[in-house]
Amino acid sequence: MEKYDIIIENGASICYNRRGDSISALKTGGRIKVIIKPTSIKGLIIALENTCDDRVVLGYMTNALISDKGIDKEVVLTSGVRGVHIDENKLVCAAGESLTNVCVIARKFGLSGMEKLSGIPGSIGGAIAMNAGAFGGFMVDIVESAKVFHDGKIIEMSKEQLGMSYRHSSLLDSGSVIIEATISLTPNNPLIIANSMKNARSKRQQTQPLEVSLGSVFKKTEDNGAGYYIEKCGLKGCRIGDAEVSTKHANFIINTGKCTSNDYYKLMCHVKHIVENECGITLQREVRLIGEFEE
Ligand SMILES: Cc1cc2nc3c(=O)[nH]c(=O)nc-3n(C[C@H](O)[C@H](O)[C@H](O)COP(=O)(O)OP(=O)(O)OC[C@H]3O[C@@H](n4cnc5c(N)ncnc54)[C@H](O)[C@@H]3O)c2cc1C
Repeated sequence: MEKYDIIIENGASICYNRRGDSISALKTGGRIKVIIKPTSIKGLIIALENTCDDRVVLGYMTNALISDKGIDKEVVLTSGVRGVHIDENKLVCAAGESLTNVCVIARKFGLSGMEKLSGIPGSIGGAIAMNAGAFGGFMVDIVESAKVFHDGKIIEMSKEQLGMSYRHSSLLDSGSVIIEATISLTPNNPLIIANSMKNARSKRQQTQPLEVSLGSVFKKTEDNGAGYYIEKCGLKGCRIGDAEVSTKHANFIINTGKCTSNDYYKLMCHVKHIVENECGITLQREVRLIGEFEE
């Protein structure tokens, strides 16, 4: 039996040497040696059980910069692992379900708590791993527990065990993988929820660039958004190759055409360096680096 036969038998597709720029959100990145894309929770578990411990697990790659040198490891993509089960005021979501879709379901069923998250791209698994949030609302506010692949076993983790803090969770350090998560919401009028979600999305459209990006490059500092310092240093519009510091929001680097991951990375390092020199502030990266990068 070939190594991946059992994974394929459980509905996953396997793709060899696919270019990262054809699938990543930023449309950059070199060849990925093996991509395994399961289509069910069972398929995801089997994929995790039959891949090496150094595998990379990604959702929609909306926060992941894929190296131009490619990835020489197995990449498990959860984006085909979809489904939401509604249990009174709780939503049990498969790891690869889109956060956007979960927001739509919450609105339709009159469940409040996700309003500020409306408009954030990515998967439920990625959103929990990154503790995604906006306008003062965070995933940690609504996550109750998760089924996690940890050290080769499936375990139930409480919110506390997930160790979620600002744009971080213990999953990012341990390499444990969210399989399914339970979100706990509060009943409210669907029209009020719809209105709040609309407001969050329009605020986003007014302040953030529409071009391809990975969202915020750096985390907030203690006293200000990273964009404040980047703008203060006159870096809006600064370019390396086709990567550009957005003129609309300085904490976004956009792909203006044929940007490479290296362009993005170099521009990110340049911005960090200038802000450190001119403002004495050390910006912390929010974007996740996947593969090797050299300054
Ligand atoms: C236009 C734009 C706007 C954005 N706005 C916001 C915003 O307002 N707020 C915000 O917080 N973020 C924002 N982001 C960033 C991004 O959308 C979030 O971080 C999102 O939650 C990432 O989900 P993903 O599925 O794309 O994760 P990926 O980018 O695929 O992965 C991100 C990290 O999560 C890990 N991961 C993914 N799935 C799992 C899993 N199942 N189990 C364990 N670890 C996993 C990966 O290994 C990686 O380290 C924005 C991005 C874009 C492009």
